[in-house]
Formats: sequence, C-alpha cells, structure tokens
Amino acid sequence: MFLNYNFPVKLLFILVLLFSQCIGQTTHVKDFEYQRKMMVKKQIAWRGINNKKILNAMRKVPRHKFVPEFYQEYAYEDTPLPIEEGQTISQPYIVAFMTDALDLNPEDKVLEIGTGSGYQAAILAEICDTVYTIEIFKSLGEKAETVLKELDYKNIFIKIGDGYNGWKKHSPFDAIIVTCAPTNIPKPLEEQLSEGGRMIIPVGEESVQKLVLIKKKNGKLYQHAVLPVRFVPMINKKGRKY
Ligand code: SAH
Repeated sequence: MFLNYNFPVKLLFILVLLFSQCIGQTTHVKDFEYQRKMMVKKQIAWRGINNKKILNAMRKVPRHKFVPEFYQEYAYEDTPLPIEEGQTISQPYIVAFMTDALDLNPEDKVLEIGTGSGYQAAILAEICDTVYTIEIFKSLGEKAETVLKELDYKNIFIKIGDGYNGWKKHSPFDAIIVTCAPTNIPKPLEEQLSEGGRMIIPVGEESVQKLVLIKKKNGKLYQHAVLPVRFVPMINKKGRKY
C-alpha cells in the first residue's frame, strides 16, 4: 500500500529532476554562446578587427572547453587565463589581432609554435586548410589533441617537440604564428616561411616584448613591430629560455 502510493510520486519527482537538469544544461550552453557573442562584439569588433572570417571563427570556437574547469566561467573575459604547466591561453583580442596580422587565405598552410590549450590552433583551422602546431610540454600537447578531437577538427596536426626548429618536413609555410617569446627570431622559422609568407612573433625579454610582423618578399625579410605584448618565454627541452 505504502509503496503503491509512493511510486507515482517518486516517478514524477524523478521526471521533474531530469527535466530541470536538461533545461539547466541548455541554459548553460546558451549562456556560453551569448558570452562568446558579446566577447566578439565588445573585445574584438569594437576594437577595430572586422575580418568576418575571424569574427565568425571566434563566435564558433568554444573557448571554455580549452581552459581548466575552474576557469571556465571566466573563459569569455577580456584576459589571458592560466592553463596547466604554468602556461597561459592568450587574451581573446591578442588571438584575433595575431590572426588578423597573418592575412590568411583559405588555402594557406600555417605553422603555430606553442600549442598550449589548442585554442589558437582551432581558430586558425576554422580559417585555413591545414594547421601544424608544436608544443614542448607533452601533457599540454596531449590535452589539446583530446579537446580538438572532441570538437572534430581534422585539419590540425600536433607535434610534441621544440618549435624553435620549426617543422621542416611540412615547410614552407604560408604563415607562421609564434605564441611564446624568444629573445631573437629563430632562423629555422625564417627559412621555413614561403615566398610571400607572413610570420607574427613576440620577441624580447620576459618583461618587455614587441610583437613583430615579418614578410618574405623576393627571398628577403621585411619586419616591423606592431604591438607591445607579454608572452610566456620560448624554452628548450631543458627548460632554458631562448
Ligand atoms: N597558443 C596557445 C597559447 C600558448 S602559451 C593557446 O592558444 O592556448 C605558449 C605555449 O608555448 C606554452 O604552452 C608553452 O609550453 C609553449 N612553448 C614554449 N616554448 C616552446 C617551444 N620551444 N616549442 C614549442 N612550444 C613552446
């Protein structure tokens, strides 16, 4: 008697609970979508970046999936965030700015040095044919690979290794983006840039760096500083700064 009376009540309770969880999850996803839209509008477009492909890519790629769970609620704030191994995911505006500076075409082959979370690679993969990316920390490279696989990116190739030397096998690259800072521009990266290729790279000591844009024309390199920045240092396998 007792059980019979309680069964429909229990069933109703379970159904209400399941339903509310579903609603909760949809609201959560929609919330991130809304935050992403606002991020693109206020942090990127209002600051003068109007390349539609970049804006669309940044509206699409779920940045919260690339940061540790603890920081997910801050994923769409105007700031870099900590990731594992004491590294950082760059501020959204810097990701947009560097991508814009590369003046990418859909058929371009791009090399990134410093995979980190994999977020910048995902943005590049939305815009270009093929993205090669190198990360020195195995744990970060593997984690980025898992996230990018979950999001179904098939045009991103990750290598664990020292990006100072580039990735000769797949060179030359139409564009190279470096997201860790050496004190001098690595020669192998200059060499692996194609004719007409562009490279964006932060250069300098840990406290003061400038973002340098390099273009290769008729085999010659032309460079100019575009923005003061602060990136994590480029290191070798022993952890020493370049
Ligand atoms: N592009 C990343 C930001 C990464 S921060 C993102 O979207 O999240 C810079 C990254 O460069 C760190 O993960 C760091 O481990 C890596 N790094 C530093 N020196 C490196 C080197 N010599 N080769 C490859 N990666 C390097």
